[in-house]
Amino acid sequence: MSHDRISRRGLLKGALLALAAAPAATLLTREAAAANPLVDPNDAQAKGLGYTHDATKVDAKANPNYKAGQHCTNCIQYTGKAGDAEGGCNLFPGKNVKAAGWCKVWVLKPGAKLG
Ligand code: SF4
Repeated sequence: MSHDRISRRGLLKGALLALAAAPAATLLTREAAAANPLVDPNDAQAKGLGYTHDATKVDAKANPNYKAGQHCTNCIQYTGKAGDAEGGCNLFPGKNVKAAGWCKVWVLKPGAKLG
């Protein structure tokens, strides 16, 4: 009988610890992303990909694949949170891109819309 109590107590304690740890892990991830430096558009990789901090300033003639409404936020490679000014991109590990940015390998994120 007391063994069951301990087990239930142990389970409850574990569940509470897990609940307490989840927001902390989220905060750490957010803080890590927030601490990442912004990609320099003049970096060799960024230049090669035609990355810009502001998608509205993309040279459409030089980038015929670009369409208005494309930006990092609705790109499949963007890992930032909706509403944040910047976030991670799978192509630039350890760095952030601007939510309003764009590069040549932009692909629409499933379920996202242009705009
Ligand atoms: S791959 Fe997507 S998220 Fe990354 S810089 Fe290019 S457009 Fe932005």
